[in-house]
Amino acid sequence: MLLVTGGAGYIGSHFVKEYLSKPGSEVVVVDNLIEGHRRALHSLGDELTKRIHLIEADIADERTVADAMERYYVDSVMHFAGFCYVGDSEAEPSRYFENNVAGSLKLFKVMDALGVKKLVFSSSCATYGDPQYAPLDELHPQNPVSVYGLTKYLIEQALWSYGRTKNWSTVCLRYFNAAGADESGLIGESHEPETHLIPRVLKAAKGEIDHLEVFGDDYETDDGTCIRDYVHVNDLADAHIRALDLLNVKTYSEAINLGTADGASVKRVIDLSKEVTGRDIKVKYSKRRPGDVAKLVANCSKAKELLGWQPKYDLRKTIETAWNWEQNRRY
Ligand code: UDP
Repeated sequence: MLLVTGGAGYIGSHFVKEYLSKPGSEVVVVDNLIEGHRRALHSLGDELTKRIHLIEADIADERTVADAMERYYVDSVMHFAGFCYVGDSEAEPSRYFENNVAGSLKLFKVMDALGVKKLVFSSSCATYGDPQYAPLDELHPQNPVSVYGLTKYLIEQALWSYGRTKNWSTVCLRYFNAAGADESGLIGESHEPETHLIPRVLKAAKGEIDHLEVFGDDYETDDGTCIRDYVHVNDLADAHIRALDLLNVKTYSEAINLGTADGASVKRVIDLSKEVTGRDIKVKYSKRRPGDVAKLVANCSKAKELLGWQPKYDLRKTIETAWNWEQNRRY
């Protein structure tokens, strides 16, 4: 049985839906529902929901996690749970260290005690820090510049150690910018407050916010705005399934980038969003957001080589699915 931490969250719920598309499959989800949404799992419909064993608990709750692992004969873990905002992590480092680092280490302790050795971890391109070259491959030095990036980096290091000392098989998937929503419109991105670019652009298109604030147009990029690599959440889900398949074949300790290799500037996101929505989007330029770097784009050769993975969604399609969700949000 597979245990999914953070399975009611944005990326976790898209993974759960994809995983359960295999008839008869079941998952155990451990989620404290702080960032996750019970509705995300219930929205999937009765047939899928009955194959989800939801345990409302924190990953740091060792006893509950151990009980769940024993009761459901868990043999592998997808570890999505964690706080994910760079800005928040700088404002509240203790919260990030406690949840992302201490929580993960407790999860690993329970896995170790029960002999569960397979894990896929949601890591981040934030572990690289300021890019020394672009696109970024997995060999780029890791010098995280934010607390968030550091928490992901520390867990990657812990997992290498478990691989070395305990023969764990692990894949750290370094996401670039997760975006979009499932095409069904049943699940999508829902953060409170929402700080990510694409949902904010679409909220401006909807009139839910008056305008989009663009953080800086004086970067050394073609149009002066930051470039990011937006990868569709279902493509991420697909990569997780492939990573799990890999762990079932042999023992790995790998880190793999997940992006599209296609960088898009903030202005390009806004222009495409205008086209997709057919609406005007008011924009105001302000100063740079602390911690932002000019350009983050993935080299995804390793994902292709090792996982046979390639993203299916381009930026337009990603924005279309996000718009579909934004217009009919369920939670
Ligand atoms: N951004 C922006 N206005 C917003 C939100 C984001 O200009 O309201 C920019 C941000 O400065 C960055 C890019 O959009 O260059 C992507 O930001 P996001 O927060 O979505 O992801 P991050 O790259 O920080 O993980």
